[in-house]
Amino acid sequence: MKAIVYDGPRQVSVKDVADAKIERPTDVLVRITTTNICGSDLHMYEGRTDFETGRTFGHENLGEVVEVGKGVDKVKVGERVCLPFNVSCGFCKNCERGLTNYCLTTQPEPNMAGAAYGFADMGPWQGGQAELLRVPYGDHNCLRLGEDAVDKETDYVMLADIFPTGYHATELAGVIPGDSVVIYGSGPVGLMAALSATIKGASKVMVVDRHPDRLRLAEEIGAIPIDDSKVDPVEFVLEQTMGLGADRGCECVGYQAHDPQGNEDPSMTLNSLVKAVRFTGGIGAVGVFVPQDPGGVDDMAKRGEVAFDYGLHWFKGQTLGTGQCPVKKYNRRLRDLIAADKAKPSWIVSHELGLDEGPDAYQHFDSRDDGWTKVVLHPNGFHKKAS
Ligand SMILES: [Zn+2]
Ligand SMILES: [Zn+2]
Repeated sequence: MKAIVYDGPRQVSVKDVADAKIERPTDVLVRITTTNICGSDLHMYEGRTDFETGRTFGHENLGEVVEVGKGVDKVKVGERVCLPFNVSCGFCKNCERGLTNYCLTTQPEPNMAGAAYGFADMGPWQGGQAELLRVPYGDHNCLRLGEDAVDKETDYVMLADIFPTGYHATELAGVIPGDSVVIYGSGPVGLMAALSATIKGASKVMVVDRHPDRLRLAEEIGAIPIDDSKVDPVEFVLEQTMGLGADRGCECVGYQAHDPQGNEDPSMTLNSLVKAVRFTGGIGAVGVFVPQDPGGVDDMAKRGEVAFDYGLHWFKGQTLGTGQCPVKKYNRRLRDLIAADKAKPSWIVSHELGLDEGPDAYQHFDSRDDGWTKVVLHPNGFHKKAS
């Protein structure tokens, strides 16, 4: 089968690799029809992780079931399914509590938890930027889609990661109806956090970024764009909230946060949120941070440590929730919102491409080229976006 293979920093290529296949009775084999390039793929693409050369990326996957193992009861051949980026078992101590983001059995390293397809340090699972994907514990991991699965494919594929992850940011922050919310990062996850806050009935949603194409997308769903290359985002949020600060804040940037001039500072967005969120407010941090970052700007960053303004955070009595999203906690409910036309997360999709165009798309997305807001790949044939 064809797959996008990591060759080294900023180098990927489409290669013929061994077909994914059923390896255990509980496996499901999926023919991938849609798979996304994600911002977290870029950390690996840029060589900022220990992702192995020769492996395949791709953790935002949707497709058609082509084969099921003998121990699979629910999922049937021919069904369209969306796969949570978390690979989880359903029976470990964490999965039992719904924390499939910290599965203990699909992650083979001792003293580690959590697994994902095609992801550095998250188990041996191959990615889905390929023609076929092996899904372990298929009955547990497959989210089945309805008759509109093909029509709304670019919406449903967002259930694999970014829509639940954006929603999770608002859950960690504690967003409830009427809240004012500031979101740092207007990339795909930040935009999904803005959509989620809107769905939850936030009174005011503010999104901080500096890329005009992304800020425009935030504005399209009624959020207030804040261009931090032009204004001080903290000052702006305070002005918008009678000097009090926003009720809730979401961090959707992560450890490669940098100022408009490109100077990296992993503490930048978190410390800005501590200032922009009110006393006793909540912060949800879903942007990726890592325990080691050999490519970090200084010794502290290399150790994965962040100069977090804990003094002010504590003094203001804020809460801070962190970590990857347990996709299964939300994906059914968000699927049903899409089915009912109450959410259309595909509004951020800028490019629908074939697998062969993947390497080129990585370059554009990594360069944050204008207009490349979200790339969707169709490894088994595709149609261009109509508009
Ligand atoms: Zn992702
Ligand atoms: Zn588990």
